[in-house]
Amino acid sequence: MKKSSFLLAFLLIYLNLQSQIPTIYQQNQSFDYYQIIKYYKTLDSLHDEAKLIEYGLTDVGKPLHLFVISPEKEFDAAKLHAQNKTIILINNGIHPGEPEGIDASVLMALKLLSDAKKLKKELGNVVLCIIPVYNIGGHLNRSAYHRANQQTPELHGYRGNARNLDLNRDFAKLKSQNAQSFVSIFQEWKPQIFLDTHTTDGSDHQYVNTLIATHPVKLEKPMKQFLNEKFVPYLYDELKKTPYEICPYVETMDWNKGPETGIVGFLDMPKFSTGYTSLFHSYSFMTENHIFKDYKDRVLSVWLFMETLIKFANENNPSINKTQKEAIELTKQKTVYVTDYEMDTTKFEWFNFKGYESEISKSPLTGLERVVYNQNKKYQKNIPYLNQFIATKSIRAPYAYLLSQAYPEVIHRLKLNGVKMNRLACDTTIELNAYYIDNYKKTTRPQQGQFPNYDLNISIEKMPIQCFEGDYIIELNQHANEYIVQMLEPDGMDSFFKWNFFDEILEHREYFSPIGFEENAIAYLLKHPELKQQLDQAVQNDTTLAQSHYLQLKFIYDNSEFAEKKYRRLPVYRIETKIKLPVK
Ligand SMILES: [Zn+2]
Repeated sequence: MKKSSFLLAFLLIYLNLQSQIPTIYQQNQSFDYYQIIKYYKTLDSLHDEAKLIEYGLTDVGKPLHLFVISPEKEFDAAKLHAQNKTIILINNGIHPGEPEGIDASVLMALKLLSDAKKLKKELGNVVLCIIPVYNIGGHLNRSAYHRANQQTPELHGYRGNARNLDLNRDFAKLKSQNAQSFVSIFQEWKPQIFLDTHTTDGSDHQYVNTLIATHPVKLEKPMKQFLNEKFVPYLYDELKKTPYEICPYVETMDWNKGPETGIVGFLDMPKFSTGYTSLFHSYSFMTENHIFKDYKDRVLSVWLFMETLIKFANENNPSINKTQKEAIELTKQKTVYVTDYEMDTTKFEWFNFKGYESEISKSPLTGLERVVYNQNKKYQKNIPYLNQFIATKSIRAPYAYLLSQAYPEVIHRLKLNGVKMNRLACDTTIELNAYYIDNYKKTTRPQQGQFPNYDLNISIEKMPIQCFEGDYIIELNQHANEYIVQMLEPDGMDSFFKWNFFDEILEHREYFSPIGFEENAIAYLLKHPELKQQLDQAVQNDTTLAQSHYLQLKFIYDNSEFAEKKYRRLPVYRIETKIKLPVK
């Protein structure tokens, strides 16, 4: 048998690794990629309760791994859901210069698997899934100099992946293979709870670890209430009893003045890990360790956070699963979707914050004045915490969307995300509501190698649309509704249009020239006296138009049937109400 024949060899490696664990992070070191994978492979071989699974490739050519700990030795995600287990997915090393979670997960796996009886008690109804390192390319690129603000651990990875993408901006567009492999894991395991581990700098304070919970405003009511009233308070209260109390992620109102002036909440859009996972109703969290603390404490604090998360999940397994199921049912019937929010700066709560006084002192490097936090001057006081967001844009979703099959990159992403689609059975013309992008801006600086579109003005026009056998019909009665709407609506938070998937529509493919068009324009006006009247009226009211041959021809072109229908028209159409369409 696999397990017994290699037992001795693996036991030796295991003991060796076990003896390294208590010291490696205490000595400001973190595991390299090869050590980590060897370690999880060893645990897999020694324990029937654990399995290391490969899920597709990453941009550096190595597979993305998932390490699963299942006390009842069941590794079929669908069966685990049928048994009402709560699945926690922990993602590590998205930014490999922030490796606390990578090392803490190794510690956690070791501890849980060291005692089979305790494992059953500690995990109970929880199945723990760990992505050992997500940005493998970045983690293989180790140096002491990637993180200019950070002193430890001694060697650390690089933020960009093998394609130099920031993977924590890639969950909507899925440009990296890492992200596509992540989605395969996420959609198969459908975790009720998701944790992404990070490290941050900025102002100094007393907390070793800080927390961003997915913003509750984005969740359906049962999950919103449970997150606000039970889940998040439990995490704060339990960790308060330990040396590693947490506070909300410290993003200050005014960077020049420090956190005393107030800290602000974070709205996680779908391009971020928790923004993506919460579209599918996972209770989602990001931990942000504080770089100025000792590496040892940073690893232990995130380890303790994981332990607290597991304890809550085990104790509250029925409520977590129930609220998630209720949220999914509500989403399937949802008609209005919010596509933009803004912070309500008039509302805040007080947070009892443990900080350090800031002061002006002379820099030993430049000899000039600079702001420093004096760690000998601790304070504890109430500071404003602004975490209320209000919806500023929403849309009423149609019964279904019709999507042209000419966009395989979009269809591939919808399929990866488990979106159910039907296909038209024949060529046909259907009266549909089409989106026109009347105005938009394009970023002038690249974002993730692209120039996204933003600040859209959109209009909807009903018109006959030529559709073809195989085009896709996507009904909004699905678990994935929120994802579908946010991605297909042009003004969705991180929509396919905003991320350039439909940029071909922004160019003319046909147009007029002032010489060639004139004869056709004259003939057209003779057949359409109403347009001639409109032109005469416009010429009377607009002296620029009156004096421009070109502009008058443009007026005729734009307002006639010569105007290109496909120019700036999104290839995603609204089917407003249920109609019977021929589908395969
Ligand atoms: Zn990060």
